[in-house]
Amino acid sequence: MMPQPPAAHSSRETADRLMATVKTRLPAIFFGHGNPMNALGNNQYSSAWAALGASLPRPRAILCISAHWYLPQLAVTAMSAPRTIHDFGGFPRELFAVQYPAPGDPALASQVQQLLAPLDVTLDESWGLDHGTWSVLCHVFPQADIPVVQLSIDETRAPQFHYEVGQRLRPLRDAGVLIVGSGDIVHNLHAYAWGRHPVEAYDWAARFETKVRELIDARDHAPLVDYSSLGRDALLSVPTPEHYLPLLYVLGATTADDAIAFPVEGMDGGSVSMLAVQFG
Ligand code: ZN
Repeated sequence: MMPQPPAAHSSRETADRLMATVKTRLPAIFFGHGNPMNALGNNQYSSAWAALGASLPRPRAILCISAHWYLPQLAVTAMSAPRTIHDFGGFPRELFAVQYPAPGDPALASQVQQLLAPLDVTLDESWGLDHGTWSVLCHVFPQADIPVVQLSIDETRAPQFHYEVGQRLRPLRDAGVLIVGSGDIVHNLHAYAWGRHPVEAYDWAARFETKVRELIDARDHAPLVDYSSLGRDALLSVPTPEHYLPLLYVLGATTADDAIAFPVEGMDGGSVSMLAVQFG
């Protein structure tokens, strides 16, 4: 057998290195978090979140944009031990007992601040992990041993701003950071069937979710950013922006060659989309 010529050997090494580089890019994932009770759940959503977590490479840290940190400024959690915030009322005591003691990552908080400069990003010491973050992560990464940092959603800004912030965060994916958006693509609590048996999705909710899926698959981000132009279905599905906007951060953090998957599906209570979208 002829020995391998050196050139072929070195090109294979180059290919291996490229593969290793590709492998280190972490996905960006949007989660529909739905009802906080999913934290306690043993249901189709919690099982799918756990299976997804088991399939992921282990991140160095997680940067989460949650619908529930929606305030008139940009802030990033910078404490080393963020508290578990039970930011809801009227739920059973056992839900208030849930703790997600993941460490923070002050160095990542500073890195986010630098990536977004000259935007003014406050290093926050008072928030923590709200239920948009922990009700999902307690199933995805149940050991709570991966550092988590939250970035607030500046409620004073137009949708395009949130997409652009996502674009600026994209390099973190190559630095071992899992970018997570947590909200709900359809989130209409006025129509939600609280505590009742599973109900069919409202027509407008199903149509809007389908439309969003099609646009995501087509990588056609402009109408997803300008979602209010999508008509009456959008108005009913996104009556307030905070649960939809985390999707725009995730879309902004994608690359054109990311694989696209929808690892969790479902319409809870007829009007809350549980759709998860994974890029990469
Ligand atoms: Zn929520």
